Amino acid sequence: MNAQTMHFQPSAAFPGRAKASVNNPHLRKSFRSAMDFLMNKRAMQFADPEELASLRALGEQIRQYNLAKLPDLLAQLEQNLIHNGVRVHWAETPEQANAIILGICQSHAAKLMVKGKSMVSEEIELNHAAHAAGIDALESDMGEYIVQLAGEKPSHIIMPAIHKTKEEIARLFAEHIPGVDYTDNVDALIQIGRNVLRQKFLEADIGLSGVNFAVAETGTLCLVENEGNGRMCTTAPPVHIAITGLEKVVEKLEHVPPLLSLLTRSATGQNISTYFNMISGPRKADEKDGPQEVHLVLLDNGRSQAYSDEQLRKTLQCIRCGACMNHCPVYTRIGGHAYGTTYPGPIGKIISPHMLGLEATASLTTASSLCGACGEVCPVKIPIPELLIRLRQEAFSEPHANPAMVGQGAGYSRVQTSIWRLWATMYRSPSLYRLGSWLMSRLRALTPKRQGGWTSVRTPLQPAPKRLRDLLKEK
Ligand code: SF4
Repeated sequence: MNAQTMHFQPSAAFPGRAKASVNNPHLRKSFRSAMDFLMNKRAMQFADPEELASLRALGEQIRQYNLAKLPDLLAQLEQNLIHNGVRVHWAETPEQANAIILGICQSHAAKLMVKGKSMVSEEIELNHAAHAAGIDALESDMGEYIVQLAGEKPSHIIMPAIHKTKEEIARLFAEHIPGVDYTDNVDALIQIGRNVLRQKFLEADIGLSGVNFAVAETGTLCLVENEGNGRMCTTAPPVHIAITGLEKVVEKLEHVPPLLSLLTRSATGQNISTYFNMISGPRKADEKDGPQEVHLVLLDNGRSQAYSDEQLRKTLQCIRCGACMNHCPVYTRIGGHAYGTTYPGPIGKIISPHMLGLEATASLTTASSLCGACGEVCPVKIPIPELLIRLRQEAFSEPHANPAMVGQGAGYSRVQTSIWRLWATMYRSPSLYRLGSWLMSRLRALTPKRQGGWTSVRTPLQPAPKRLRDLLKEK
């Protein structure tokens, strides 16, 4: 099985990747039609604007309420999970999370891990670490299975293989699955995938899953899915490991239904997902099935940095529905791989700086038209454009009064920042501007003679209009 071969690419390469995607008509057509389909399905689910407004307000309120109590809720969650027989692990970094998971695998002499869909496991590049440790990590979500066969990362957080055509999938299956002939019949392809995976569920030593909501008051892990593979991963193998970001905790069971409704309707335009799993511990003595051991790994990876800043904390409200991506005019034109990060699109632009550092992701903060569509569709009302502007400011210009990303570097060097500051000061003041342009015109003799004919007739620029000066002053 292919280990994940794509890795995070430096931010500097983003413009080149974006340009290549824009010049790929096949990719643009695939994304455009897929995103139109998803946008229409979501619109049909939220036909009543009043219901949508009140549900979004409730979703925002629930997420903010739980984030405000996050430290206490994490302690309560841990206590109740332990009471239920679940072993809880804390990981600050991807390396720690991988070490914990591989340690559990090694203590069971595991050879095969089957994985349900988990973006956090993508975030820590678990497949790669498992492969290096001699453990096969097999994706069992159909989209994830396809991108794993192709040696790629997901291009969308909900539909990982949305960029692939059925012909490409048919070629992948014929090439990688022994005894399979080329067919581009979609039903046949799904059946081929199912046959491979069913056998693997029986053979696996470890089942790994993500978590959509972790309920503190009951110590329950909730898992939303459509294919049933999540249920197989969490019940068939003798050991189940769940992994999630530490922001996914909610205090009460009653907080889950509104968030679930917002999630499925925003993500895939479904009233409810086909499966909703609630896991509250390992198999009990009188039960016939279920894992003998259940573990939960709670990952930080930059989330506590976002949490420590009141404005950036809103990033953690995210329930990973993908609606902001589906509606983003940039994402729909360049697709997910161009971003080079685990989480692409608008949510990726505001969460990735906390995970990878602002310097490595500086150019992503500019990949937005600031049209506001992402903020308008976000089911939990994250003000994505506002957060993007904040991150841009920290990456490229005046340092923010209370920088959360301090020490992570910025897109501009000190010299560049000083030049821009000098320019801004000059442009704000008419007298300084006149002095500057007078000085520049006197220094014109120092510029190369053969610069171009137009310089001989050029007149100095006029001071900025008052309206523009006022605007700059406000900034
Ligand atoms: S930011 Fe909002 S719209 Fe985007 S994935 Fe998160 S919850 Fe969904």
